[in-house]
Amino acid sequence: MAAGEQPLIGHLVIVGVGLIGGSVSLALQRAGVVGRVTGVGRSRENLELAQRLGIVDAWSHDVAEAVVDADVVLLAVPMNAYASIFSAMAATLPAHAVVTDAGSTKQSAVAAAAHCLPKPERFIAAHPIAGTEQSGAGAAFAELFDKRLTVVTPGPDSDAAALLLVQQLWEQTGSRVVTMDAAEHDDFLASVSHLPHLAAFALVNAVGRQKREGHDPFSFAAGGFRDFTRIASSSPEMWRDIALSNRDALLRQLDAYQQELAGLRAALVTGDADRLMHEFSTARAARETWLAKHGDGL
Ligand code: NAD
Repeated sequence: MAAGEQPLIGHLVIVGVGLIGGSVSLALQRAGVVGRVTGVGRSRENLELAQRLGIVDAWSHDVAEAVVDADVVLLAVPMNAYASIFSAMAATLPAHAVVTDAGSTKQSAVAAAAHCLPKPERFIAAHPIAGTEQSGAGAAFAELFDKRLTVVTPGPDSDAAALLLVQQLWEQTGSRVVTMDAAEHDDFLASVSHLPHLAAFALVNAVGRQKREGHDPFSFAAGGFRDFTRIASSSPEMWRDIALSNRDALLRQLDAYQQELAGLRAALVTGDADRLMHEFSTARAARETWLAKHGDGL
């Protein structure tokens, strides 16, 4: 940025300075497109750490006070907190401010904004499809979004200038941006993200509950179990909120998954080797095709 030039975002307020909120700040600072960053959160310890790491210039526990002179507000908190945070900032949010988020489900985010914000047309929902199973400011890093996809889900009433700014913001984090309908986003993500998390949590519990005196089944687990269950180390609070905020789509995906498992079970009961071979080969081919197409973007 040349001397005297205005940054894309003068004052960015990040509510929830964890893995995602912290990484957005670091990525935007790397790109040189943000003037100053204020963090809002619950834990003093996490906010002080964020300041020490250069993620935020200042911090507050009070969202109403923090947004008074905000240009952009980013919510990066569990989905269940949206309504109370939007309500808390409604009276002090400047008219020109643009609000975006990083939440994993989009219809509930849009609905909360419509209920609680004075200008919901200036809320542009977004979801960066990037993450790790780590949480907190200490887990944040500037490269998290590089070459990943961010889905932006404007509605028919969205403000065009706000949409453009939010698209630019997410591009400046290093990600590719696509726009999509919020319901369509929630359907896709229920299948490739939310269902696998439920499957991983369930698998770990199914094995863990079989612990017997003198025999810990986990001590026999190797790479396959570790790969399949990595995401069961994710934040329970965050995943509770994602599951509940995308309940209908997730229930449909769970039904489809249970149907697949029931098919495998039936093949096992009858000793149907051909069916097992067919199901395993179909899955393997689908996964290989996906990796060949998208391998470097994972
Ligand atoms: P995180 O736990 O690392 O950070 C969340 C932060 O929000 C924490 O610092 C927490 O203290 C704070 N917080 C919680 N409730 C709050 C409240 N009421 N007011 C203020 N601060 C509050 O979680 P994360 O991984 O950064 O996830 C944040 C959001 O991003 C979630 O909505 C999640 O669905 C979404 N997301 C996560 C990932 C991922 O892989 N982790 C990927 C994409 C999107």
